[in-house]
Amino acid sequence: MDGNRQKQKNNGGKGNPGGIPQALFGILIAIVTSLFIYSVLFTGGAGRLMSNNQLEISYSEFMEKVEDGSIYRVRIAAEDIYAYEKGVPFDANLQDVDTEEELDNFMKNYTASQDKIYHIVKVQDDNLVDKLLAKGDIEIIGAKASVVMDLIISFAPFLILWLLIGMFARRMSAGMGGAMGGIFGVGQSKAKRYMQKETGVTFKDVAGEDEAKESLQEIVDFLHNPKKYTYVGAKLPKGALLVGPPGTGKTLLAKAVAGEAKVPFFSMTGSDFVEMFAGVGASRVRDLFKQAKQAAPCIVFIDEIDAIGRSRDTRAGSGADSEREQTLNQLLSEMDGFEINNGIMVMAATNRPEILDQALLRPGRFDRRIVVEKPDLKGRVNILKVHAKDVKLDDTVDFEEIALSTSGAVGADLANMINEAAITAAKAKREKVSQQDLKDAVEVVLVGKEKKDRILSKEERKIVSYHEVGHALVTALQKHTEPVQKITIVPRTMGALGYVLQTPEEEKYLNTKKELEERLVVYLSGRAAEDVVFDTITTGAANDIEEATKLARAMVTQYGMSEKFGLMGLATTRSMYLENGVDMNCGDETATAVDEEVKEMLKKAFEKAKKLLRENREALDKIAEYLIEKETITGKEFMKLFTEITGIEEEKTERIVSKEEDVNV
Ligand code: ADP
Ligand code: MG
Ligand code: ZN
Repeated sequence: MDGNRQKQKNNGGKGNPGGIPQALFGILIAIVTSLFIYSVLFTGGAGRLMSNNQLEISYSEFMEKVEDGSIYRVRIAAEDIYAYEKGVPFDANLQDVDTEEELDNFMKNYTASQDKIYHIVKVQDDNLVDKLLAKGDIEIIGAKASVVMDLIISFAPFLILWLLIGMFARRMSAGMGGAMGGIFGVGQSKAKRYMQKETGVTFKDVAGEDEAKESLQEIVDFLHNPKKYTYVGAKLPKGALLVGPPGTGKTLLAKAVAGEAKVPFFSMTGSDFVEMFAGVGASRVRDLFKQAKQAAPCIVFIDEIDAIGRSRDTRAGSGADSEREQTLNQLLSEMDGFEINNGIMVMAATNRPEILDQALLRPGRFDRRIVVEKPDLKGRVNILKVHAKDVKLDDTVDFEEIALSTSGAVGADLANMINEAAITAAKAKREKVSQQDLKDAVEVVLVGKEKKDRILSKEERKIVSYHEVGHALVTALQKHTEPVQKITIVPRTMGALGYVLQTPEEEKYLNTKKELEERLVVYLSGRAAEDVVFDTITTGAANDIEEATKLARAMVTQYGMSEKFGLMGLATTRSMYLENGVDMNCGDETATAVDEEVKEMLKKAFEKAKKLLRENREALDKIAEYLIEKETITGKEFMKLFTEITGIEEEKTERIVSKEEDVNV
């Protein structure tokens, strides 16, 4: 934040040659605006000078004020009397104002500090002047002389105020990364910036997610025609919470609801609320809802709500926590404060529903939960189609095949792949995207771009080649694995020195114990090849080992697949939608025993991999040599060599393929 502010200051600071005209411009605006306000308030008639602080009072009220000494000046015109009362002094400094709330306060105090001017319709009272004179310390002014005076008196505070605000706004906008947007941004809500009259997104732009769309259709319908629902007395949820892994289209869906219903869309991200100065979060929520109420029917969307909606009892309150809590409380009270009939639908999205404060999920708040899942095979095909809408494709393109090789990918990944493919085609000066472009794009998204400038030594290439062929051979030698699609030793930007690409033959949702056990062996077969051939081991297998360990641990603690522990659930996943680990929920002793069991499983798998490779040493050597020469070979080439050397035919008829982990690095 600090660094940010610094940068912003440097950009728009005083040293900048463009800064002077800008300052003049600000003053000009201030003057013009003051004149404008003045002319609006100046409603004709000599001396009928109206100002912000001018109040109408009766003659008798006026006399009372004169009596108790609060009036210090009286101006007497032909038909009107103006009485001046001193404002409440205050000595706040604009330099100390940091938040919008403080600014609000400052403005209030400033207004109060201004003299009050009372307007009194003149009544016949010949003794008026005498009475005033009798009070002694009242300045009496005749009408004519004071028009200019009044002008100056009324005008000056405006001018000063506008100049101050101008300065302040520039200061504030420097601090907020331009958020304030000049003089007129002050006092207005930042929510305006987040309001979209029309999102332009409809359900057509969201592929797959049919169940989510169906649930949301109801909300669309309601926003379209609230009377239909209120007439019957149907109660709709006030808030809908979209939950699902990152990149599955939650934000997109919320926009689509607004687009379908043709209502304005207010959106803010949870972190928008908390990264600001203290107290700003809550005031933003207030502003957001204030504006939403004016624009209803509309949708208020709070993206990544976990940033403010984190359970309040998870950690002891630091400064940031109490700020977050205030924001959350404000949100809750806003949601409680309106009836759904007002036409505001609050939507929120998160990929961490389990950490949300329970208060958010109570009836009348985000009581509708809409699950946005990772897309299945058909969903992925449809997402690819949606994003390829404006992309020229040639006849070779087969989305089914791409979808099959991208199990686990989410909408954002797939959109990315289509874009990568289009870029590749454009770079090659081709007019259409081919299937090969798409396949390359899949790899780019999965393992990064080819890193041509990374040159491996001869020895390194040999080790990497054996490592990858080890993976491929062990894959082919086992029954329940996925077919090899490609083997390569061209390094990639995401760290891989080489890898084996596997593609399943069909989408799978369950894995058998057998499949997982074989997958463990495949994971460790790269290292096994190094061990068998070179009798040394390298750091190249770090990722394999990590994955293997994770899988073995999950088999023991979550899938109930170990003999030793059977069906006992020993761990719970920390997050439903993020792959950020599990929490053990067993005693220390058991945890140690689990570690033993995992170690045992890994050891067994490693031994099996070594055995398979020793038995097929000839194939290992020959294919590895071939790969060193070619750098990349296809699954077909590999299987041909494999069959030639080992005599084993690929008999994959009743193969059951497994779902994830297409890439073995
Ligand atoms: P989330 O909010 O769930 O993290 P987003 O809505 O931000 O995901 O998705 C990011 C981008 O990925 C979208 O703008 C869109 O281009 C693409 N995308 C994600 N899911 C889908 C989907 N189901 N259909 C079409 N495009 C999608
Ligand atoms: Mg999002
Ligand atoms: Zn490996």
